[in-house]
Amino acid sequence: SSPELSFQPTSVEEIKEILDLARQRSKRVKVVGAGHSPSDIACTDDFMVQMGKMNKILKVDEEKRQVMVEAGILLSDLNVELSKYGLALPKGGVAAIAKAGVAPYLCGWERHGIVSPRQVVALTLLTASGEILECSESINAEIFQAARLHLGCLGVVLTITFQCVPEFYLLETTFPSTLQEVLDNLDSHLRRSEYFRFLWFPHSENVSVIYQDHTNKPPSSSASWFWDYAVGYYLLEFLLWISTFLPGLVCWINRFFFWLLFKGKVEHVDLSYKIFNYECRFRQHVQDWAIPIEKTKEALLELKTVLENNPKVVAHYPVEVRFARGDDILLSPCFQRDSCYMNIIMYRPYGKDVPRLDYWLAYESIMKKAGGRPHWAKAHTCTRKDFEKMYPGFRKFCTIREELDPTGMFLNVYLEKVFY
Ligand SMILES: Cc1cc2nc3c(=O)[nH]c(=O)nc-3n(C[C@H](O)[C@H](O)[C@H](O)COP(=O)(O)OP(=O)(O)OC[C@H]3O[C@@H](n4cnc5c(N)ncnc54)[C@H](O)[C@@H]3O)c2cc1C
Repeated sequence: SSPELSFQPTSVEEIKEILDLARQRSKRVKVVGAGHSPSDIACTDDFMVQMGKMNKILKVDEEKRQVMVEAGILLSDLNVELSKYGLALPKGGVAAIAKAGVAPYLCGWERHGIVSPRQVVALTLLTASGEILECSESINAEIFQAARLHLGCLGVVLTITFQCVPEFYLLETTFPSTLQEVLDNLDSHLRRSEYFRFLWFPHSENVSVIYQDHTNKPPSSSASWFWDYAVGYYLLEFLLWISTFLPGLVCWINRFFFWLLFKGKVEHVDLSYKIFNYECRFRQHVQDWAIPIEKTKEALLELKTVLENNPKVVAHYPVEVRFARGDDILLSPCFQRDSCYMNIIMYRPYGKDVPRLDYWLAYESIMKKAGGRPHWAKAHTCTRKDFEKMYPGFRKFCTIREELDPTGMFLNVYLEKVFY
């Protein structure tokens, strides 16, 4: 992304001035949080507004456990601030994005539905015309329903009010299993743990099951010296780089890291957000679709078969599988259905691209066949026609967008593919 002008406003007045300037010069505006989205959704050639300096906590209602923040605050900072008041987000964040902003759209998993939008009880939106709208279930309810997952195309989100819960500890239990066992007993795994997900190591049967549950046990260390001292990262990156010359090594790398890291049962207790969030240190390409939960087994087994039948197609570990409750947010991949998110990755060791086209296309066609919806922040090849079929509320969202931003001030190349 190479914006013509880049701004870091510190007040609402400054953002209004930027929008005035954009209007005078017929420029588009892209507001960004952490710029962490792997797709080009946060890119622009016109004006970029980085919200990082608007990151204060504005109000804490300890009785209702509601916290109003400026929209540029990072999840990692918000979690620490909430902890000072003995509060936490029910889902402290999303795997691998401790550093992401709170304003965009986030997804999560398990009984709790997608992470951030469902915890939002109110927000303020600065529209293309310069008007500030308060939005909640009772004020501007339709805009609120759209704005909880807005792709940055409705205006500038200025503040967000989160519904929090009392701070809590989680017990994370990791143990090995097989793909067949997990898929055969999916319901039972979902019942057994509050936050259940699993990692499948492609080119093998190996699975690492992860349970996360409320606990009264005292905090304990993860004892992962291997990752804490970054030895694992250096070794994995080096081996993956070697495998770019010898792709047949990938299946052995996947098996080796499973054996090294996940072959035994490990328990670890910590504050919820420290368990939910972790740093993702590798450069990588990702795809992540949400499919109806009942399609999980069929889709994963099909992906496994594709890899078995095409030995030249290489897949890095892990395929991360997690679950989210259905919701009523217009553009949520979980709209009106309980869903399974299936995240695939291909690392870029030392920045080097590893061929992924065949893997990508096979995965995407399986996801489409299963009635999937792509994660908005990640790679996909869908356009408006696809989204109209995928989302019953797509047209309603488009109408709201066109009313709030008739000239398309908040669009960019990515969003043109979505809306035109
Ligand atoms: C390695 C990796 C792992 C990830 N893992 C997960 C995962 O497990 N689950 C998951 O759900 N996601 C995951 N993500 C994706 C992540 O959720 C999104 O990229 C996240 O929303 C990014 O937040 P951000 O603040 O960086 O948003 P940005 O990338 O800065 O912006 C995203 C969109 O939000 C808009 N926006 C941002 N702030 C505002 C504002 N104040 N007002 C209006 N519009 C705004 C932007 O215009 C843009 O359209 C992952 C990403 C990476 C790189």
